[in-house]
Amino acid sequence: MADSGILFVVSAPAGCGKDTILNELFKKTDAAGYAVSATTRAPREGEENGVHYHFLSREEFMEKISQNEVLEYTEYCGNYYGTLKKSVDDLLSKGKDAVLKIEIEGAMNIRKQFPEACLVFILPPSWEVLETRLRNRGTETPEKIAERIKQAQTELSYAENYDYLIVNDALETAVDDLLSVFRAEKHKRSRCGKLLEQFK
Ligand code: 5GP
Repeated sequence: MADSGILFVVSAPAGCGKDTILNELFKKTDAAGYAVSATTRAPREGEENGVHYHFLSREEFMEKISQNEVLEYTEYCGNYYGTLKKSVDDLLSKGKDAVLKIEIEGAMNIRKQFPEACLVFILPPSWEVLETRLRNRGTETPEKIAERIKQAQTELSYAENYDYLIVNDALETAVDDLLSVFRAEKHKRSRCGKLLEQFK
């Protein structure tokens, strides 16, 4: 329907379930694909190079930046993360929508470069629920937990800059809601110029 693939940005503070939502969404549609980012952080258990991230050394990451291969990048919790032009182009050139799962700074950067990008923010059901989830995660020190909570507060304050808000209360509903947003965007008149051309 839309003239070309759409750039979707999905952001959420840690603990809001954006990975789970997106994994479920990709099971339901192949119209959109995940644009795999580059990062200098170490892989977590179960993460595969080229699937979850392109895991790079700092030198390799900096090389990509100097070669102009990175659309945006940021330093987050001591590691670099960046959107690779190639990851996005590979999807868009196949007529697919590209989903960027990135944090707020990167999202604002993408918005500046691509005003037509669609930005979606995933919210927790309430602040209390998110705080409890963050506190109950693993065996982190009180300092680390306080840092995460502060980080989440900052990130949530950016939600008003996004186009759509999805609340992750029940997973199934959140996935459906996100899918509806993706589908609606494909039918936006401003994205469907070619469709109307034939009737002129
Ligand atoms: P994690 O280490 O938990 O996988 O990711 C940490 C944060 O970095 C998450 O908010 C994630 O969305 C964000 N992130 C992942 N890839 C990119 C990227 O390419 N650019 C930016 N700006 N943020 C990213």
